[in-house]
Amino acid sequence: MLLPESVRLIDRRRFLLLSIAGTPDRPAADPYQDRRLRMVKNQIEARGVRNPAVLDSMRAVPREKFVPASVQPQAYEDHPLPIGFGQTISQPYIVAFMTELLAVRKSHRVLEIGTGSGYQAAVLSALVEHVYSIELLPALARLAAQTLSDLGYRNVTVREGDGYLGWPDKAPFDRIILTAAPPQLPQILVDELKPGGKLVAPIGSGDDQNLVLVEKSETGKITTKTVLPVRFVPMRKGI
Ligand code: SAH
Repeated sequence: MLLPESVRLIDRRRFLLLSIAGTPDRPAADPYQDRRLRMVKNQIEARGVRNPAVLDSMRAVPREKFVPASVQPQAYEDHPLPIGFGQTISQPYIVAFMTELLAVRKSHRVLEIGTGSGYQAAVLSALVEHVYSIELLPALARLAAQTLSDLGYRNVTVREGDGYLGWPDKAPFDRIILTAAPPQLPQILVDELKPGGKLVAPIGSGDDQNLVLVEKSETGKITTKTVLPVRFVPMRKGI
């Protein structure tokens, strides 16, 4: 039977809309999904990270969107990558390991020093109430804020600034994570930690750096555990 022209036109338009949006039967393809899932299985679960929420977040965040186009095909490889300005995005495993070590809860407000690409902040975003992240280099701070906003991460605030000064307006924090290495732990960051809080940081210089877990008891007593030798970019003094 011949349909009137107007009906056929509407049908064709609806079909076009459906094929652009994707349907539950045929979701729009994510060319990086397989690599992301393999990364979590082979690099992260295989090395002992077990926290289901951390693993889910690592399965969800599109790491390729946080690196320059030139290295996008390597986004899921087992090593750090350059993000410009002499800085790097950490190896996926170390991001997952540090996130697990931080032992975050949904109610937490977290301070990150060293926004870089914004990837670590994105991984934390699904796990906590709010992430506050400080980046020293203005261009990286702007780019990370843009990437996070384009991808719809609404509970991350990025600020250009010097992490050595902390974030007094937003302190105290339940958790603090440093992704650049200071020679010693800055006291101001310990002071900005709530009682019962935890801080994870690479401490040291050059080849001699260790990841440490700092815990503040309810009475304010500080304990520090050395966890793992690591290699991060240095945390530099702002001018
Ligand atoms: N967390 C990032 C990786 C960080 S690389 C990610 O997921 O991509 C370390 C970052 O720390 C760099 O971008 C560097 O510019 C920044 N940095 C160095 N010294 C700093 C300081 N004093 N305050 C804030 N950021 C600093």
